[in-house]
Amino acid sequence: MPDAEIIAVGSELLTPQRLDTNSLYLTDQLNALGVEVVRKTVVGDERERLTDSILGAAARSKIVVLTGGLGPTEDDLTREAVAGALGRSLVFHQDICDGIEARLRFFGRKMAEINRRQAYVIEGAEVLPNARGTAPGQWILNDGVAFVLLPGPPMELKPMFEQQCLPRLEKLLPPQVIRTRWLRVVGMGESDLDQLISPVYKRYANLVTTILAVSGEIHVHLRARCALAHEAETLVAQASAEIEPLLGDRVYSCNGDSLEQVIADLLRARGASLSVAESATGGLLGGRITAVPSASDYFRGGFVTYSDQMKIRLLGVPAELIAEHTAVSEPVAKAMAEGARAGTGSDYALSITGYAGPEGEKVGLVFIGLAAPDGSEVRRVQWPADRDRVRAFSTNIALDMLRRRLLDLKP
Ligand code: ATP
Repeated sequence: MPDAEIIAVGSELLTPQRLDTNSLYLTDQLNALGVEVVRKTVVGDERERLTDSILGAAARSKIVVLTGGLGPTEDDLTREAVAGALGRSLVFHQDICDGIEARLRFFGRKMAEINRRQAYVIEGAEVLPNARGTAPGQWILNDGVAFVLLPGPPMELKPMFEQQCLPRLEKLLPPQVIRTRWLRVVGMGESDLDQLISPVYKRYANLVTTILAVSGEIHVHLRARCALAHEAETLVAQASAEIEPLLGDRVYSCNGDSLEQVIADLLRARGASLSVAESATGGLLGGRITAVPSASDYFRGGFVTYSDQMKIRLLGVPAELIAEHTAVSEPVAKAMAEGARAGTGSDYALSITGYAGPEGEKVGLVFIGLAAPDGSEVRRVQWPADRDRVRAFSTNIALDMLRRRLLDLKP
């Protein structure tokens, strides 16, 4: 299977203001075809450096995708650089020029002379029409290497890639089928997980296993690439049948669903409702829950009670409890969850109170409460992490506590 390289062209991509996101999208698309992206380059609008990157990529990989630098201005050099690197000329296409002129006229603009530059096509290249902009893309096969030139704006690049490049790439690639499985895991560190499952996945030569740590969760991606569908399916099924029991009930989804989506499905299936009371996370937990469409089916609402006064007034937390134990304590987390449950009449309620930091002696200490029809519980967690992570991780634990309770799993 051929490998690919991506070259993102544009001096703005070398500044702190603009990030190359096209290559993430392209990598995802290429991986889905079974093509590995083995190198990515970001290069400014400078002819010699660009030529250098093109020649290097072509010497190493069979697919070279370039994005950006197809505009009309002097610093848009991708066409010239690729043509020069391949020793081909640029040919003016009157029909492309007419199309650009008509498009600009439609939007009430007159075509500038410089737009003519966009009508030049590398000798022998196929033109990829651009439905969303003026710059057409180009596809050219040269000495067994496919060069794909795509415009920089993501809204132009994506439809062009999907409609015009995918079918061409599929024709180019040996027939194959890819099957994947996403195991999402919560409540376990990345290295512990790898230690546990690496003896299994290392035995599968044709399986690509990727382990990603994402906001306090671990995502295990299993990808099999085979000539026949049933081979790929069997391979993924066999590997996950060995890996899943090792991870046990820490696996919360196998199809890419988020933790909040899993919670949504569980609550909806039981006809149960939920509310939240948040201090340290200031609404993050409610934000995650309501990011799922139709959350109103089960989510009653949330309280952001940052001060002691608000915990007392809105959630009915006894002032003496805070005075005796402080606001970041097990009894207060429990009282917050119970207060939210009573106040909203929901079946379940989650609470979070903690020190997110970055300063302070007890930074990273968080108490997470769950109030439920069959009783309340509180978990104490302590992370050495920074403020963003403490807050994000706390929402994971809260959602996982609820998941475990709803599924009758051990806390
Ligand atoms: P145009 O015809 O619009 O000039 P172009 O192919 O010349 O297209 P550029 O001028 O390089 O593209 O980039 C246009 C805009 O597209 C940039 O300002 C940026 O917003 C976006 N863009 C370019 N490259 C990327 C990239 N790699 N990732 C994300 N966005 C990008």
